[in-house]
Amino acid sequence: MSVRAWIGLGGNLGDVPQVLRDAAAMLSALPDIGSLQLSSLYRTPAWGRTDQPDFVNAVAVLHTERAPMDLLDALLEIERTFGRTRSDAAGDQWGPRTLDLDLLLYGDAVITLPGLTVPHPRLHERAFALVPMLELDAGIVIPRIGSAADALARVDRAGIEALP
Ligand code: AMP
Repeated sequence: MSVRAWIGLGGNLGDVPQVLRDAAAMLSALPDIGSLQLSSLYRTPAWGRTDQPDFVNAVAVLHTERAPMDLLDALLEIERTFGRTRSDAAGDQWGPRTLDLDLLLYGDAVITLPGLTVPHPRLHERAFALVPMLELDAGIVIPRIGSAADALARVDRAGIEALP
């Protein structure tokens, strides 16, 4: 049975708009993934560490028969293809990155596995994910949290602008 899944895309190194479009195309071309829709791309102020370039963020919604862990593996593989520099070892979790892909929602599932938490634990606090989600589905509901529109009303969305 096909599930509607939501993916967060972001980066702040290199030609990010091109990387995000290419990553979405690569995801869309995978077997077992259908009818992918990509939101507008949004410029968003850097979070965590602010002494770095602005981020570009978007979300994609797709339909898939892949199990959640298989979908996450595909996302991590695409991240590697685009050469994301994982600097976690340096304790730089919020540093610059070429491409970051997150599994935001997997239908209405609540998943707690080693290495996978869905809904993404910070989704409801991140305007740069909520704004593009609401662009694609104004009625989207986050399991255990409630309406994404209500979540957005509780957070700071300053500085998030759609790219032309
Ligand atoms: P980060 O570097 O902050 O993007 O974290 C990536 C790691 O978080 C991956 O290795 C995943 O195993 C783990 N992870 C847990 N839940 C999720 C999720 N919903 N989406 C993406 N990564 C996740």
